[in-house]
Amino acid sequence: MIARADALAALEAERFDVVVIGGGITGAGVALDAASRGYSVALVERADYASGTSSRSSKLVHGGLRYLQSFDLGLVREALVERAIMVRLAPHLVKPLPMLVTAFDGKRPDRIMGVALNMYDVMASERLRRRPERRFRFGYRASEDWSPDRHRIIDAAEVLEHLPALASREPTSAYLFYDCQTDDVRLTMTVLGEAERFGAVCANRCEVSGLIEEGGRAAGVRCVDRVSGRTLDVRATSVVNATGVWADRIRPEEIHAEAEVPQIRPSRGTHIVLSGEDVPLRSGAVVPAGGGRNIFALPWLGRTLVGTTDKNYSGPLDHVGPDPEDISYLLESSNAFFGTELAPADVLGAYGGVRPLVSTGDTKRSVDISRKAELFETSSGLITITGGKLTTWRRMAKQVVDRLVLRDGLEAPCRTEDIPLGLPVEAGSLPDAPGVDEQSRELMADRYGHAAGEVLDLAAQEPAFARRIVPGLPDLLAEARLAARREQALTVGDVLLRRTRLGLLDSRALAKAGAEAPRVVAAALADELGWDHTRIEREVTAWHEEAEAEGIADAGGDTAPPVGVSPPSDEIAPPALPPEPEWEQASTR
Ligand SMILES: Cc1cc2nc3c(=O)[nH]c(=O)nc-3n(C[C@H](O)[C@H](O)[C@H](O)COP(=O)(O)OP(=O)(O)OC[C@H]3O[C@@H](n4cnc5c(N)ncnc54)[C@H](O)[C@@H]3O)c2cc1C
Repeated sequence: MIARADALAALEAERFDVVVIGGGITGAGVALDAASRGYSVALVERADYASGTSSRSSKLVHGGLRYLQSFDLGLVREALVERAIMVRLAPHLVKPLPMLVTAFDGKRPDRIMGVALNMYDVMASERLRRRPERRFRFGYRASEDWSPDRHRIIDAAEVLEHLPALASREPTSAYLFYDCQTDDVRLTMTVLGEAERFGAVCANRCEVSGLIEEGGRAAGVRCVDRVSGRTLDVRATSVVNATGVWADRIRPEEIHAEAEVPQIRPSRGTHIVLSGEDVPLRSGAVVPAGGGRNIFALPWLGRTLVGTTDKNYSGPLDHVGPDPEDISYLLESSNAFFGTELAPADVLGAYGGVRPLVSTGDTKRSVDISRKAELFETSSGLITITGGKLTTWRRMAKQVVDRLVLRDGLEAPCRTEDIPLGLPVEAGSLPDAPGVDEQSRELMADRYGHAAGEVLDLAAQEPAFARRIVPGLPDLLAEARLAARREQALTVGDVLLRRTRLGLLDSRALAKAGAEAPRVVAAALADELGWDHTRIEREVTAWHEEAEAEGIADAGGDTAPPVGVSPPSDEIAPPALPPEPEWEQASTR
């Protein structure tokens, strides 16, 4: 990405066709779609890219088997098509993951589940078959989209190959089906990178405080640069609000009055992270969690991710912590399923996130509200897109830009189905870097694709950067330096939580007072960002405050029961940043 200072200068100097508010997956997708259709595009993000819901998901690119239960068939079909497209466009980032529904005590797997899996298979393959065959730039045809094998029943021995953690439970058999898995932040960063290749200008820490109006129409946004505290105006013909769970805070009066009560009903989901040695998995498991609900246990970056829950949430949105009750519930469900006796102290990390569900004002529980995306165009011309899923970002973006194109009377078809997201690379073809082992090379290839070459070049040129940030995990210190240079990372939290994912995988250790890794990361950022010793100390303190505010500092607690997670608070922000601006109506010109 271009340097933040250059991005800010361009945002002020130029007039754009479209300004996108929000740097989560939805905003990133809109920026890519619009820029690739020839629009000049600006994108502003109030905090860090993907710091909202797009870093806090279950990391699945999936149809959503459970939405079959609520007969949300359109959503499932749509998502299954997107799943196939994502594997083709970003094979290094979106990977097929076998999933198991296991039976015990001599029983056969549940037949109703078998019927649902049949539907899932049919929907995945039927839609792909019906898509017109198209020839792409790189010689693919749509018929070459990834399509999973049909689900099948596997025996006990095969179950244990997929889920070694079940050894003590003696499973009888299981349904085996496929979904896909990703790293939600890396997907967002990659989409933003592609948007930039098409000319989009993106800046983080740039909070929209009001719309600029010209003749009653939204003609740009007024922002506060949260680093300098300065106000800047970004002028654009169209404004797109892609702020997820914050969507009804941009022009609330207009959105509520005109768009048939599109209330955002945040629903919180919690995940816990367990060690891959305590719960070894090669595939995902559907885990019964009481009351007819299922959760997932997923292998992710060497750990086991268990989640998620789904509860109405009315707390502050800026730092959404994991719910302590949910941490207990997830740990108990996991223990019951795998026959383990893990204690709260064995939980390595936990995180919370809120879904931007769109309620029409009725009293449905959050689990029952549709995950469909909603698009609203209000009288100022502001287009708001929210709801949806990580999986369906491309379709949501297409919906928005189709609307802009129609409004502008243009002929500009969507191209994102043909635009590769990064370039996949074999770990073996990356440059040599002494001291970097195979596991790290594999991770770099998966995370950055071809761009991993730059990480390894830096590690080769400066051996200090070839070291791991956390001894047991393969992330390299060179990534921290490059995150500041290439991806607008400005804090230790940006590197630990949203460029690498160490802040989720090892959060309790990293949040401990005196932990070494945050200091090492701060020192790596210092050279790039010009920090002196005092600033390094301040940034390490800011990391601990962020970890506390995010509720990840005491994910399980050293002693049972797992309570004592600090309530999330809007008040705690990295000290380098000025306070958030009040919502204001920027001057009308
Ligand atoms: C627990 C959980 C699990 C999930 N699991 C999955 C899954 O496995 N698969 C799946 O497909 N989906 C999943 N989802 C859903 C998915 O994560 C979300 O639908 C998606 O990330 C929403 O992205 P977004 O860009 O719309 O919102 P966000 O990622 O929240 O982005 C909105 C951005 O707008 C910014 N913003 C807000 N106000 C302003 C302002 N005034 N100025 C500038 N910027 C602003 C915010 O800082 C934020 O970064 C899950 C969600 C949750 C909560």
